[in-house]
Amino acid sequence: MSSKIFSNGHLENRGGVLYIDGVSSLEIAEKFDTPLYVLAERRIRENYRRLYDALKKHYDKVRIYYSAKANTSLSVLKILESEGAYLDTVSPGEVFLALRASFTSDRILFTGTSVRDDELKFLVDSGVTINIDSLSQLRRLLSFHLPEMISVRVNPEIGAGHHEHCITAGRDSKFGIWEDDVIKAYKYAREAGVKKFGIQMHIGSGILTVEPFLLAAEKMLEIARHVHEEVGVDFDFIDFGGGLGVPYRPEEESLDLDLYAEKVLGLYLRRIGEYDLGEPWFFIEPGRYIVCDAGVLLTRVNTLKITPFKKFVGVDAGFNTLIRPAMYGSYHPIIVANRFDSAEEEVYDVAGPICESGDLLARDRRLPRISEGDLLAVLNVGAYGFSMSSQYNSRPRCGEVLVKDGEYALIRRKEDFESLLIGQELPSWLK
Ligand code: PLP
Repeated sequence: MSSKIFSNGHLENRGGVLYIDGVSSLEIAEKFDTPLYVLAERRIRENYRRLYDALKKHYDKVRIYYSAKANTSLSVLKILESEGAYLDTVSPGEVFLALRASFTSDRILFTGTSVRDDELKFLVDSGVTINIDSLSQLRRLLSFHLPEMISVRVNPEIGAGHHEHCITAGRDSKFGIWEDDVIKAYKYAREAGVKKFGIQMHIGSGILTVEPFLLAAEKMLEIARHVHEEVGVDFDFIDFGGGLGVPYRPEEESLDLDLYAEKVLGLYLRRIGEYDLGEPWFFIEPGRYIVCDAGVLLTRVNTLKITPFKKFVGVDAGFNTLIRPAMYGSYHPIIVANRFDSAEEEVYDVAGPICESGDLLARDRRLPRISEGDLLAVLNVGAYGFSMSSQYNSRPRCGEVLVKDGEYALIRRKEDFESLLIGQELPSWLK
């Protein structure tokens, strides 16, 4: 396992201690307390650039819309803003954060579902491009505002992903608009006076092979063709969504990025030519791919409990801090950050402090012999880690640190008990 992990460059074994881009995990765990999310700026930039360069080789008009939901920390948004990325958002709160991180509204796309009227008004006032998820949303938007540009989220009938919760297209999906209604949506928008158009899909998350992207892209390009032929719409952009996976398990292979770029853009270029679609911008919306392996969760061992059946390692991060293992059964590599070189000779369940049996960060995991006080590092948590954390069991959320070439900075203070009271009021009869 370790050789794969350390091929990432920002993780290093220095004399048995985990260093993250030149910063000692022990030092920051001591200084800022655990649990603690640590993000490596260098890795975020590398991931963005690798992806951008791979796409740009094939076509000039490509844009990467980082999917903010994966990690909305202001520092992450700032890093990607400085790289020239665009932003995919799914809530007014994400738009608010994006603007705070100095993204201008012309660099922000909104792809929400079940969107309320007041939220639509906020989006209009913010000036972002709205990607429509239902005919209802379109009707309600056009009833009070005529946008210059509209995009429509298509359900291409093909979904994929690492877990059923993460498949966002196909028959059972609540997302996107089916083909017949897509035609209606563009007709309606055109008749209302909208002049510029985009089209978008997002089939799911955590996809490690090129095939599902290609199948869905083929279908969406056909839909784009029908819209073009039947409604006379020309597209400014065609957006293929996110979903580019990252290996979590040792046996998983990385997505072949060059193959992805070659195949998906190859198909794109052929079809826009054949279908007479002009030269629209090619967009994608990766979240996980950009930030996942830049993040490490440091968590301290407080309890060792041996039962007749199991060995439990009790740590201070539970599914309030990292929900992916409990929610999706996800696997995250775990290493002992202070005794890196020790052989993996025991099998443990790594359990958090939450009062639910499902609160396990790992089951039956082979690890070095653990002692209370050890520091564990849970890897590949930069995406859907902090952003999905909660205060469940009234546990204040943890802090976040950014590391860069031997330097570090606290980018989010850990919450305290007072945070648990924010927004709460007692009614007069209980005071
Ligand atoms: N775009 C949309 C509309 C999404 O809903 C998501 C995630 O669910 C993404 C992009 C990013 O997905 P990923 O992080 O798998 O790239």
